[in-house]
Amino acid sequence: MANRDDVSRELAECTECGTVYAARQWPNGTIKAIGSESCQCGCTDFALVETDEERMPPDRAE
Ligand SMILES: [Zn+2]
Repeated sequence: MANRDDVSRELAECTECGTVYAARQWPNGTIKAIGSESCQCGCTDFALVETDEERMPPDRAE
């Protein structure tokens, strides 16, 4: 896509409960979950999850 704005698409997990979200890492290092400011548990700290490029988060079935 041509929609580049220096934001990379990543996976991140909540540092409190470990829930994995699709997230974006901004050039300044901030990690934000896509679609919400915080985890379902209320935590706003996320850690990047290292994945292979084609990997998808395992929580597609709700
Ligand atoms: Zn959480």
